[in-house]
Amino acid sequence: MRARLDTLVSAALQQGSAVPAFTCYDFTTALAVVGAAEAAGRGTILLVSPSTAATPNGLRLIAALRGLADGASVPVAVQLDHASDLGVIAGAVAAGADSVLVDGSSLPYEDNIALVLAARALLDTAGTDTVIEAELGGLAGDEDRAFGSDAAGSAPAAGTAGLTDSAQVEDFVARTGAQLLAVAVGNVHGKYHGEPELRWDVLQDIAVRTRLPLVLHGASGIPASELVKAAAMNVGKVNFNTELRTGVLETLDARTAAHRRDGENLQGLLAEWDVSARAFAATALATLSR
Ligand SMILES: [Zn+2]
Repeated sequence: MRARLDTLVSAALQQGSAVPAFTCYDFTTALAVVGAAEAAGRGTILLVSPSTAATPNGLRLIAALRGLADGASVPVAVQLDHASDLGVIAGAVAAGADSVLVDGSSLPYEDNIALVLAARALLDTAGTDTVIEAELGGLAGDEDRAFGSDAAGSAPAAGTAGLTDSAQVEDFVARTGAQLLAVAVGNVHGKYHGEPELRWDVLQDIAVRTRLPLVLHGASGIPASELVKAAAMNVGKVNFNTELRTGVLETLDARTAAHRRDGENLQGLLAEWDVSARAFAATALATLSR
């Protein structure tokens, strides 16, 4: 069923839970995620990468995800992830995305605010009721590839690199009017170099300064024992991408030959893709649920 992202996340937080969000580059993965959410009786979020949304076929995928979300037996939101291009944002929302991460986190502070306001103005003009997540503090790494340029080492090890400046939180939230806030607290996109070191002290400092639900990106690689603490810090949405891809690709590596021998059985191979993605989503849903 259709759900507003902020409503979905706030309802979960009231129960001490967080909602997992999964990047879907394809419909097979999205079916598996929604299937896992329905089996768990929990809401979930389908994320679309801006690289996907920037193509005509990507917009068709968003429309398909919209239909999948609306027909699900649990609340499902469809969000455009990490967008900084107003044209891509407008296209994705027109295609069916109900929420957008307007990401100006790599820009200077004032430019970040200006981007969020420009996106809000654009979406209001279009007459949409789109939920906006904004991001304060830059995350290291590449959203779409595990071994991005600076994913190997800088952010977690350096301790303070790219961390959200909690002193800016109240001003940023008030001026952007964002409905969710993505933070950088030692989390990275892609694979962690060594042990991830989440700065719970920084997260707590942020959480006391705003009532907005917080969002943790780059959760792949963060141990479940750490993730279970998220909701207590008002983190109501946790984004997963890399580990989901890792599992699917491992499955395809291991099983393609057998299905080739079995009469070029693509359907059989897709069923194994489903099992892999569904198991990952089920684990994330269980980890974040109270
Ligand atoms: Zn992200």
